[in-house]
Amino acid sequence: MEYRRFSDTFVMRLDPGEEVIASIGALCEREGIKLGRVSGIGAVNEATMGYFDTNTKQYYSRDYAGIYEIANLSGNISTHDGKPYLHIHAVLAGEGGTAFGGHLSRAVVSATCEVFIRVLDGQVGRSFSEEIGLNVMRFPG
Ligand code: ZN
Repeated sequence: MEYRRFSDTFVMRLDPGEEVIASIGALCEREGIKLGRVSGIGAVNEATMGYFDTNTKQYYSRDYAGIYEIANLSGNISTHDGKPYLHIHAVLAGEGGTAFGGHLSRAVVSATCEVFIRVLDGQVGRSFSEEIGLNVMRFPG
């Protein structure tokens, strides 16, 4: 991982074998990012992606292995119990341009991954909603 800050945005390059979510989390910890917007593109050969089932209130994930482009990586950074909390979705595209996507919990870089993290002033927390079954955003009073 290598990154630099340009005004309000960190520009990060991930290299083969690096895991995307953990790397973004490490940058947030290191730089004290509490609120931000994540966007990226790149190529991966492993990913774990899924969806939240609103009936069972559980995440269901699938592991993917193959040659994929990250057609889009999009998400946000907030905090939960004072620590950076990432919520990131991705659309991957495989051979023939077939795309699929979901809630991204893990992705391993195959060639390169280019992530921009725009930092915002302020802080938005999260706490668990029994009704929804997720850690939802909570705004400061
Ligand atoms: Zn999600």
